[in-house]
Amino acid sequence: MNLTVIDHPLTRHYLTILRNEDTRPEAFRWAARSLTYTLLLEATKRLPLDEVEVTTPMETTTGYRVHDVVAIAVLRAGLGMLDAVLDMIPDCKVGFAGVQRDEDTAMPMEYYAKLPDLSKSAVLILEPMLATGGSLSWAVEKAKSSGATDISALCVVTAPEGVARMYDEHPDVRIIAASHDRDLNDRKYIRPGLGDMGDRLFGTT
Ligand code: URA
Repeated sequence: MNLTVIDHPLTRHYLTILRNEDTRPEAFRWAARSLTYTLLLEATKRLPLDEVEVTTPMETTTGYRVHDVVAIAVLRAGLGMLDAVLDMIPDCKVGFAGVQRDEDTAMPMEYYAKLPDLSKSAVLILEPMLATGGSLSWAVEKAKSSGATDISALCVVTAPEGVARMYDEHPDVRIIAASHDRDLNDRKYIRPGLGDMGDRLFGTT
């Protein structure tokens, strides 16, 4: 299975704040951003590097720089992870994939997509809640049709159904998550989960 669950004390700490139903949106946003830093280190550990010359106050030596990273935020919950990526990789390009789930069928409904050319890029798809996998699979298809071949998905929480679907439809995509949770309820929310990520980030209901 192409799933890596980050086993780090800080990841667990931030996730617990996100899970807590009493966490207010401002603390929720902070915890989502902080947790994303801990996922990013794993997600980016095989990024190709350019060698550059760098002059320290002592002498000239070899340095490295990352290049051609694109983040795709799956709207709207993926926005809660975007600032962390921009903090760590300020020159990354950003695409957006707008997909809403039909509350009756839990099927993804596309309403917006704006992606740069991805053929030379390492792509990080920000999809915090991997429940049925419908939205992520759709976002990956969009990314592949824009040329992406190197795709990682950053998730806060995954469910077995979503991971199985990704493995079936896009086995090449690496999934990095803070937790692999137990199951989905009958409305396709993850359990134990953290509720509706978008609502909790933005204070909507
Ligand atoms: N989306 C969410 O925000 N939460 C879930 O549990 C599942 C999908």
